[in-house]
Amino acid sequence: MQTETFDRPLSFSALSLHPSLLKALDEAGMASPTPVQQQAVPPALVHKDLCVSAATGSGKTAAFLLPVLHRALAEAAGKAGPFALILAPTRELSRQIYDQCRQLSAWTGLRTELVTGGDDFKSQQKRLRQKPDLIIATPGRLLELASQDTPDLSRLRMLVLDEADRMLDMGFSDEVLAIVGRCNPERQTLLFSATLNHRGVKGIADRILQAPEIVAVNTLHEAHAHIEQQIVLADDPVHKQKLLAWLLLNEPYDKALVFANSRLQAERLQGPLRGQKLRVGVLHGEMEQKDRNRVMTLLREGAISVLLATDLAARGLDVAGIDLIVNFDVPRNAVDYTHRIGRTGRADETGRAITLVGPGEWNLMAAIERYLKQRCQRRTIKELEGAYQGPKRVKASGKAAGSKKPAAVKKAVAEKIKKRHRDTKNIGKRRAPSRKTPESAAE
Ligand code: AMP
Repeated sequence: MQTETFDRPLSFSALSLHPSLLKALDEAGMASPTPVQQQAVPPALVHKDLCVSAATGSGKTAAFLLPVLHRALAEAAGKAGPFALILAPTRELSRQIYDQCRQLSAWTGLRTELVTGGDDFKSQQKRLRQKPDLIIATPGRLLELASQDTPDLSRLRMLVLDEADRMLDMGFSDEVLAIVGRCNPERQTLLFSATLNHRGVKGIADRILQAPEIVAVNTLHEAHAHIEQQIVLADDPVHKQKLLAWLLLNEPYDKALVFANSRLQAERLQGPLRGQKLRVGVLHGEMEQKDRNRVMTLLREGAISVLLATDLAARGLDVAGIDLIVNFDVPRNAVDYTHRIGRTGRADETGRAITLVGPGEWNLMAAIERYLKQRCQRRTIKELEGAYQGPKRVKASGKAAGSKKPAAVKKAVAEKIKKRHRDTKNIGKRRAPSRKTPESAAE
């Protein structure tokens, strides 16, 4: 690990970037570098490997695109196959990186290809044979293509892994390592992750980075200073539906994103909200790519103002003007919570994130607040105040005190343990479960 320090320039011109990049930054209204750009760009420009923790919304995409584009220009890219490969976990995130890359490279003459599952394999192969300078891809499809030798990565100069933590959580570790195995060992590698405190990320960083510079900015709780976070208690799912409709009809917002923990739940919410004359769309991982693109265009253009989404489908979404997030279900962990609320309050805009918390979700929400070292404001909607007011007493951790599990729950837990014992005995007698969830089928 390197300890060398780099200056933190306050303007892009002080970063000594290529003039065509400065022109594009100016046109994009990006006047000064964000903290992650200040810290990551200088070491990246001198070819150091980087291991960066930066939350979404921090400007992390430009933090790797700028050094990639600068180096590609300085070293006359494209002559010997792709100069850089950028891997991202989902199609949506890849598309957003691609869009930002097109914007930043507008004056460079560099060519970028986007390669994700869901698009025609043969036409991707054909486009890759034209030797683009940069490739932005999801791991599954890229590996399929590279296995047939297009693209040839043996002379690649830069490799970027964006949202490495999620890429590993989605089960892409084998694909990523197989792709790295095909890359030029002399390349520079930049790894970006929401957290570096992730076993898988530490493991992969040790294997693929050489003497990396560690850049840790925007730890989970610092990143969301300009997002107002609130909790509204709910009695049950029916009460939650009423609260959701009320919020979407009464809160001031331009675009709202509503998160559910499952595809089914997201789809179920659609009908009742449409019944309230709300303009609603759904985004989940099992949708066809063309349907996903369509719903995103509707949101961007304002034809719908509410998007119901699941975590993986919404990962990396960057739509300007999302100023309200509603968590219909409490997310499964603090990292998902952070990613959800990071869809608003981007690049210094302000936003509001409201989580609906039912009786069975109190402890999970308390754990998330504790992990993030943040306490969300408690809010009551007077018109819809429910019976549930939270636990009578809470422990120092914020969790409910003395909440004994009811007999039915104890019985269910005992059943589960018994079943696990039975399953353990049967290991080897059944097929291994699929490694990826259906939603992760980003290929
Ligand atoms: P990211 O964290 O890369 O998803 O970026 C979040 C948003 O911030 C994107 O919409 C970027 O266009 C925007 N952005 C990135 N860098 C800057 C900057 N230096 N100044 C203003 N906006 C920026």
